Amino acid sequence: MYICLEGIDGSGKSTQILLLEEWLNECGFEVMRVFEPTDSDTGRLIRKMLRDPDATGENFQKTLALLFAADRMVLMDEIEAAEESGKIVISDRCFYSSIVYQNDPSWLYELNKFVKIPDMVILLDLDVETALKRCDGKDSFENKIFLEKIRERYLDLAEKNDFFVINANNGINKVYDEMKRVISPKIGR
Ligand code: C5P
Repeated sequence: MYICLEGIDGSGKSTQILLLEEWLNECGFEVMRVFEPTDSDTGRLIRKMLRDPDATGENFQKTLALLFAADRMVLMDEIEAAEESGKIVISDRCFYSSIVYQNDPSWLYELNKFVKIPDMVILLDLDVETALKRCDGKDSFENKIFLEKIRERYLDLAEKNDFFVINANNGINKVYDEMKRVISPKIGR
């Protein structure tokens, strides 16, 4: 089983993934955690590019999309091997992140046609104001507009692809309980 958590920064993905791992272990499952960008050379290059304030524009986003697709491909063997050995894979982001952040679906689906689609995608949705407060982020007008757009694209994808949407404005424990509630039937617990 391959479960992916998606959401804007500040949605609490990393915290929930650690809690989930603990719970799944208690339920008797082995877990493999993965994340995008990965810690491969390509993933490190992506993180460096994301930090470059001068790197903007459409061609930059296309370059990122290409790199993300390559970085993602290196995870696929690992994910398949983990699943074959009965592990549950929990991923912090998957190709849906590219759809919302690099946002050119016409070729992104084609570009990512070799990657595995998660069995279950959980979107931790929260309002942008709260996200910015949690991240101590740049509370600029541009940043808000950008994040609103990303959130909208996520919600649109969620509707079209049957993601489980969880209200991440709630506290950690409430979100965790919701996560367990939606995952339980999938794992028979
Ligand atoms: O999930 P994480 O905090 O590591 O992601 C860092 C940033 O990478 C995100 O805030 C997002 O801006 C960016 N990102 C991206 N395209 C993706 C995935 C992440 O631009 N496909």
